[in-house]
Parts: sequence; structure tokens; C-alpha cells
Amino acid sequence: MENPFTLLGLTHGVSTEEIKRAYRRLAMQWHPDRNPTREAEEHFKRIKAAYEILLDPVQRADWESGRAPDDDADAPSGESADMVLSLDLEEAASGCTKTLTLDTRRSCTECDGKGSIELRASVACSSCQGVGRIRSGRSSTTCTVCGGRGYVRIASCPACTGRGWTTSARQVTLRVPAGMQTGERLRLARQHRPRDGEVATDLFVALVIRPHSLFSLDGKDLLCTVPVNIFRLLHDGTLEIPTLNGIQQISIQPYPGHGLEYKLPGLGYPGRHGRGVGHLRLKLQPVFPDHFTDVELKLLLRLEKLVLEKASTQAPELAAWERKLAQTRSRSAE
Ligand SMILES: [Zn+2]
Ligand SMILES: [Zn+2]
Repeated sequence: MENPFTLLGLTHGVSTEEIKRAYRRLAMQWHPDRNPTREAEEHFKRIKAAYEILLDPVQRADWESGRAPDDDADAPSGESADMVLSLDLEEAASGCTKTLTLDTRRSCTECDGKGSIELRASVACSSCQGVGRIRSGRSSTTCTVCGGRGYVRIASCPACTGRGWTTSARQVTLRVPAGMQTGERLRLARQHRPRDGEVATDLFVALVIRPHSLFSLDGKDLLCTVPVNIFRLLHDGTLEIPTLNGIQQISIQPYPGHGLEYKLPGLGYPGRHGRGVGHLRLKLQPVFPDHFTDVELKLLLRLEKLVLEKASTQAPELAAWERKLAQTRSRSAE
């Protein structure tokens, strides 16, 4: 979001008159009628948006106090929302702008919001077909729609089907700041300027972060399970891992000296307002090959033999076990 003061070439504390003058001057310069290029049109839109922000006392105060308009995005979670917005993890992490279609209610112009219209001439009551009474079984009661007269001069408004309001779809742009969590809500009130006849209510949008194919979120920590070939785990070197910003290489230490968990500070999910990025927590998952070819098997047997020969230093548990077996063998031989 660009600073509206900068866009209009103004400083904080200017009068409304000065804002209007600056806008008129820039609008003349950038209006698509005078300047039929795409860039001019885009710039004109930005100027117009900045102008509308500065004419709104609440939004203007936000900018003058140095707070970005994001600050109204921290409504408490767990409360009801008017709509749900699902985001990819990447979008939620970096922040994004989304276009939402809102159904806005406006007072019906045909009936002035009353829901009924007065007819020029009386017509037969449609409820009782002009009889004035409603029959139910053997008895009948006075028709409540026409009061028993059988005709009416008032009809339900066809434009709004008697509701007194109509709905129209409207596109609004929602800025989602970086680092929001599932369940948190964004308030649209300051971003959504009601049009004439629209009811100016706060609109709440609840965010849902869609499940990701690689990561899950634990607060600000990103969790990722990385399958690794068992042989790769046994020596040090580098390992390619995914992050929110693409693939990175990390050094790993041989297992089991180093465990299977790695914590990478600063590569997790961001906090709000640029505060405190979480960790990327990796869990290496040893993967055993399904089967070996003859050549591989020979290599493995050779490796196994070499390790066993040096078991007392390389694998003391195995050496101790072999000693116990040997004792049992000699005892049973006695
Ligand atoms: Zn109406
Ligand atoms: Zn009637």
C-alpha cells in the first residue's frame, strides 16, 4: 500500500482544501481522457484511491500516526465472520491482495424500502381471489390480506419481492497482511467504502490457510518431514530442503551423533507487522531401500564385514553382544 500523502505530494497536517487542490491538479494531469496510456490510467486510479483515503478522517489519522491500515486486521479470532477466505500458505506468509465479491444490500429504490407499492387502481386480492374470506374446511375466516374487502390497492413490490432491499454483487479489494493465521479475522470496514444506500456495517473475513503439500504450521514454526535415504543419514554433507522461498541446502551431521531433527531459525512463518519469523523445523525420516541388486548386496556384505571387524571401536554394543554369545556357547559346551 503506497503512502497516500506521498502519492499526492502532500505532507501530514494539510487542510482538506489543499488535499482537494492537489488531487484536482494531478487528476487533470493523469486523467485517461488526456492521457490515454495504460500507465496513466493505473496512476490515475492510485491517485484517486489516495484521495479517498485522505478524505476519510479515520484512514487519514491512521496514516498520519504512522500505522499502516493493516492495524485493523487484528480482530479477535473465534468470532463469527461474514465470509471465509482461503489462502495458500505462501500467500498468507508474504501477504497478498484479494478481490472479493460482496453481496451488498441496498434499500429498494422502487418502493423506498417499504417493500410494498401503491397501485393506481384496485385489483382483486390474490390471497382470497376477491372473495374476502379464506375457506378452510367447512368454516371460513376473513382474509387478512385485504381485510375482507376482496380487493387491494397495495401490492408487494416486484422489484424487491417485498423485502424492501435488493442485493447487488460488488467487488472489493482486501489487503491481507503477511503472517496471518487460520481463524484470524480481517475487518473490511475501512477498506470497503459503502456506496449510497448501502448499509455501512463492519464486514469480517475469516482466514483459512489451505493445507500445504510440504509444510504444516505450528504457530510461527513451519514443520516439514524430509524423507532421506538411510546411507545419506550416516555421513555428513549437504541436503536439499524446501523453504517458503525455494530450495536451500543445509549441512547435516551424521546420524545418530546428531538426531533426526533440525531447527532452522528465520526460515519459518512470519509474525505480524514484520515481527519475529519462526523456525523451520525439519524431521528427517530414514528411508530403507526396498531391495538390493546383487552388486549392491555384495557391497553391503563387504561393508558389514568391515564394520564387524572393528566392532569394538565402531559398534561397541555389537562387540559386547558377541562376547555374551561366546560365553553362552562355551558354557553349553561344558
Ligand atoms: Zn421494493
Ligand atoms: Zn383478500
